[in-house]
Amino acid sequence: MTTATLPANFKALNLVPVLLARLTELDYQQPTPIQAQAIPSVLAGQDLIAGANTGSGKTATFALPMLQKIHLQKVQAEKSNTEQAQKGNFVTGLILVPTRELAKQVADSIKSYAAHFNGKIKTVAVFGGVSTNTQMLALRGGSDILVATPGRLLDLISSNAIKLDKVNTLVLDEADRMLSLGFTEELSALLALLPSKKQTLLFSATFPEQVKLLTQALLNNPIEIQVQNADSSTLVQRVFTVNKGEKTALLAYLIQQHKWRQALIFVNAKNSCEHLASKLSKRGITAEVFHGDKGQGARSRVLEAFKAGEIDVLIATDIAARGLDIEKLPVVINFDLPRSPSDYMHRIGRSGRAGEVGLALSLIDYEDYHHFKVIEKKHKIRLEREQVEGFEVDEALNDELLAQLLAESKPMAAPEGSGKKKRKKKKTINADIWAGHSDQE
Ligand code: AMP
Repeated sequence: MTTATLPANFKALNLVPVLLARLTELDYQQPTPIQAQAIPSVLAGQDLIAGANTGSGKTATFALPMLQKIHLQKVQAEKSNTEQAQKGNFVTGLILVPTRELAKQVADSIKSYAAHFNGKIKTVAVFGGVSTNTQMLALRGGSDILVATPGRLLDLISSNAIKLDKVNTLVLDEADRMLSLGFTEELSALLALLPSKKQTLLFSATFPEQVKLLTQALLNNPIEIQVQNADSSTLVQRVFTVNKGEKTALLAYLIQQHKWRQALIFVNAKNSCEHLASKLSKRGITAEVFHGDKGQGARSRVLEAFKAGEIDVLIATDIAARGLDIEKLPVVINFDLPRSPSDYMHRIGRSGRAGEVGLALSLIDYEDYHHFKVIEKKHKIRLEREQVEGFEVDEALNDELLAQLLAESKPMAAPEGSGKKKRKKKKTINADIWAGHSDQE
């Protein structure tokens, strides 16, 4: 689709007045690029494949046309005084997502967009980690829209709580993530249960081979849209170099110095969340943790409290990296660099959403140095390495030396002593501290 004449306002997208009124209330002044490009075609019933980053306004791109379609069908049915076709445990619009939090978030957004339909359009979210009974009850009489994680949906289908043979719209959100989380089999099992005639909308930040196969198998003459992160100009990325073993001290200093409220900090392991929280606590900073070993109740509570601004610092694994929408999240910090370069974008995409100003900060020590370059290369960025006063690294730490040391797998040297005064002097390599002073205090 050409982007030359994109509709500049929602009115021009052919949305019904009841949805337009809601968008005005939500202060959506103009469509985001993906909304402007996709909504008219999606309303016209076309399949869609979109390469869209988080924060680009994807949810409304599929939710608004879905709601409009269901609304018009209901109006038509009322007018002609016919029974709605869907009676029983059927669903007409199905949205598959990779994580529980995303399921809840997407369903909440849809309910919000549907606020003026006076409860006539039903949306249910189902996901694992919580009791199936409540979800079965919610699905009684079916649902117009169902947002689901694949595993729980299959469970509910096998207990006859829901049927998919009336689905007329399928959305696969974060398709690459779903496949990388090992949902392949569950996804194929679900796709086999869907009618062949339906509209399919597929969103994926990246297009690995498996996603390409999916698109070939699923989509019928789709419109293709590639949207760069619309908010990249408002998200500032910075990288601070730090001596190994001093990341926690630097992090604590930054949190206190900037008085950050709502800082989301990423680490790579569940126990690292707890570990870092306890180290911050010793420095007088209260932090909560968010990872896969927490029960669903605790995960929801922590997330809600963080969103509400009741928690200043949240330490999370990559389960928080995808899709979560935390309004005005000011700062995301990579305490550990993500192993996969594509997760870097997902993590930092938690901040700077929908035009808000955001900061994405990565703390790197010498062991991260090479990996950060890989991340930069992958995303075609190059950030200036910055140092924080009082936490300077040895000037000898340049690319060449690092490459040489890493190649030789020698214990890395650090300045003598760990005191700030000493660190400020130019130092030569000293193996002891770098080798022994890992990020533990
Ligand atoms: P999403 O990519 O769907 O998760 O949306 C990211 C954020 O942008 C959410 O907070 C939405 O409420 C918000 N948003 C989506 N579309 C618009 C728009 N056209 N104008 C303003 N905010 C929007």
